[in-house]
Amino acid sequence: MRDASPQTTYLKDYTVPEYFIHSVALNFVLDEENTLVTSRLTLSRNPASRSMETDLVLTGENLLLRRVVLNDDTELTDKDYQKTLDSLTVYNVPQQQPFVLTIENTINPKINTALEGLYLSNGMLCTQCEAEGFRKITYFLDRPDVMAKFTTTLVADKGRYPVLLSNGNKIAQGELPGNQHWVSWEDPFSKPCYLFALVAGQLECLEDKFTTQSGRDISLQIFVEPHDLDKCAHAMQSLQNAMRWDEEVYGCEYDLDLYMIVAVSHFNMGAMENKGLNVFNTKFVLARPDTATDSDYEHIEGVIAHEYFHNWTGNRITCRDWFQLSLKEGFTVFRDQEFTGDRTSKAVKRIEDVNMLRTRQFAEDAGPLAHPIRPDAYIEINNFYTLTVYEKGAEVVRMIHTLLGAEGFRKGSDLYFARHDGQAVTCEDFVKAMEAANNVDLSQFRRWYSQAGTPVLTVSHTYNAAGQTLTLTIKQHCPPTPGQAVKEPLHIPVKVGLIYPDGSVAPCQLEGGTAADEVILELTQAEQDFVFTGLTAAPAISVLRGFSAPVKLVMERSLEELAFLLSHDSDTFNRWEAGQQLVGQVIIGLVADVQNNRELRLDPIIIDAFRQVLAQPWEDLSYFSLLLSLPSETYLAEQMEVIDVVAIHKAREFVKLTLAENLQNALQTLYLNNHRDESGQFDAGAIGRRRIKNTCLSYLCALDDLAIKNWAHQQFKTAKNMTDQMAALSVMVNNPHYARKQCLTDFYQQWQHEALVIDKWFALQASSPAPDTFATVQALMAHPAFDLGTPNRVRALIGAFSQANPLHFHAANGQGYQFLADQIIALNTLNPQVASRMISALTSWRRYDASRQALMTAQLERIMSTEAISKDVYEIASKSLA
Ligand SMILES: [Zn+2]
Repeated sequence: MRDASPQTTYLKDYTVPEYFIHSVALNFVLDEENTLVTSRLTLSRNPASRSMETDLVLTGENLLLRRVVLNDDTELTDKDYQKTLDSLTVYNVPQQQPFVLTIENTINPKINTALEGLYLSNGMLCTQCEAEGFRKITYFLDRPDVMAKFTTTLVADKGRYPVLLSNGNKIAQGELPGNQHWVSWEDPFSKPCYLFALVAGQLECLEDKFTTQSGRDISLQIFVEPHDLDKCAHAMQSLQNAMRWDEEVYGCEYDLDLYMIVAVSHFNMGAMENKGLNVFNTKFVLARPDTATDSDYEHIEGVIAHEYFHNWTGNRITCRDWFQLSLKEGFTVFRDQEFTGDRTSKAVKRIEDVNMLRTRQFAEDAGPLAHPIRPDAYIEINNFYTLTVYEKGAEVVRMIHTLLGAEGFRKGSDLYFARHDGQAVTCEDFVKAMEAANNVDLSQFRRWYSQAGTPVLTVSHTYNAAGQTLTLTIKQHCPPTPGQAVKEPLHIPVKVGLIYPDGSVAPCQLEGGTAADEVILELTQAEQDFVFTGLTAAPAISVLRGFSAPVKLVMERSLEELAFLLSHDSDTFNRWEAGQQLVGQVIIGLVADVQNNRELRLDPIIIDAFRQVLAQPWEDLSYFSLLLSLPSETYLAEQMEVIDVVAIHKAREFVKLTLAENLQNALQTLYLNNHRDESGQFDAGAIGRRRIKNTCLSYLCALDDLAIKNWAHQQFKTAKNMTDQMAALSVMVNNPHYARKQCLTDFYQQWQHEALVIDKWFALQASSPAPDTFATVQALMAHPAFDLGTPNRVRALIGAFSQANPLHFHAANGQGYQFLADQIIALNTLNPQVASRMISALTSWRRYDASRQALMTAQLERIMSTEAISKDVYEIASKSLA
């Protein structure tokens, strides 16, 4: 734990490392409470360093140092080095030639509840080193621009740890007296220590192979606890799909002979791309049709691909420093988004990604924690694994892709790989490669890397019938963010299409250009006019197609215009967006009616629009179901000056109920037509059928209709897959239902031995709008299956309540805030990383009324006064209050 005013690290202070570590030979004698680590480092002075220091400063935390030996023959004494809580300084190391330093220390994995470094999960020993966990294993130059060749030997009890894994290829193994055994691993590729991993435990393995485009056979292994071996097939298939896709789309082939994935039940993040040995949260590996939903299946494939893609974008080419995190994450998220789009439905994937960006990243960008995708400063780097770095980072890469086109982008990525393979580089190096390969100037575009905040585009237009021209005027403005009062105009690609009143495509022909179905406008100034010619009638304008930039769009449009676009826009994203704007505007109007105690009436244009959507034949049923979905309460909240969670909930529920009443027959028919008792079908057709059917069920269950309630109950009882069972349980928990209590009990009984399913059971109850939810959440905290030390469970109960239940979390009496603060204070010492992530629900306090603001800030101040506050929690809580 830290003192109360931790240090800030600044990008501008970056200097090259004073020393390099060329190779490291690690030896672990593994034990739950007392693991002995011997590290033999070969080092040399970095000739590029201008520092005159002759001392070597290594980082290390929570380590018990046993001995330090120089050049294999000189045992150093405490006169030769100094040890502090987080470093080891060795005085006067050789400057002229390489030298060897051998360090012996011990660590205690059992008390490591922060889950960084080496820790214990269900009897298995495993590691998490990104960002700065390696320093909790041994003393090292724990920074990504120090890349070394690792050899690792693991020694352990054969009975407790029959499987011993580390990075690279297995090179030797043997037996030792006392039922011990050892295995040696060698990774031929230089890597930073954050990519180091080891795993030891009683694990079973699913094995398969992949033949690369050049004909090499790669052995693929997925390791899990024995009872989970029947839930690995989808992860294996996903890995093979990802390997093929990366060869086809990026020309990237896997480099080692072995690729291993280990599923771990205690994990702070989603998964980790350690070289050749990925460590995964079980949530993103394990799936069987009866235990995992369709969206679990999709997320598993996406995360498996993401970590695999890191082998090139992250491992072969890594980050120079942690400020460059978006270099590997933004690019890799973009790659996994495109992969999932190709594998499933491009339209649906884009809408889901944009939904997440707009509800959560935009809020981050508008709040006290706003930061550019390449931050300038941090106290705790773990706090910068944010939606901004990941999701907005991916949008920035996507804009480069849009500006250069697929072919140009591929030329750029080829050059990036060719130039920087084996190096630790910066975001600037990435942009330079894109520029050089395409002979373009992205100088102004670079501002996306340094400017925080979400730009607002204001669009207006005039049609000149005599000249048959349309002038589109686009203004850009980016509100101030902490530390950035003034913003420069950005380079923004705006994709536009035009539609004639009869629904046909109008030509997009800019003055002096050629006609096309759609065009990408490059906005570079604060205000710019774009003149379209040859338009025989005033067209409807479809702006920001495909969400071509991460911006907010302000454009006066009547409900009729939006309804027209919902019927006629050929761009799948904008068609859906028109529907969301249409119903969103109406709900926001109703929110005002709720606040003023006016009678609620739904504009018939909404019912008509939904009726038309329902009447059309849709091939992509998942997309169809998105067209029928209402904007989330969180998204609606973002549209309000002062968020009123109660009024939003009432207005949205009213719209849902009114639509159900008016469209009951159509919704029922659709439900029945798509209801099958299917198991194990994961093609787009089956997934789409389940999705549209369950969307209908959710509407219908808003009605007080016993027959419909029986449908839900029946679906719950007979479901052969988790998607259907969960959807049925969800409508029973979220609406008054006679069998609610019984089904929750039955569900728990049925799945009590499947941790990931029980996480769903916790999350569902924690996010319910039912009036007794807060009492339920408190009771669940005392449930024997709840454990504050298991991050997945914490996210399922405390995370779902605080982040997915605005109605109850923001209860006017402040009980939700106090509850969350209690949990954060408890987690602060147990797991600082998870604790600091939970604060986000309090960060946006400025968006609420004065009374809630006072209640929320009081809890943030209470968190700040926690004894032994971790720097993770300190940074987020203090910045939230600033
Ligand atoms: Zn990643």
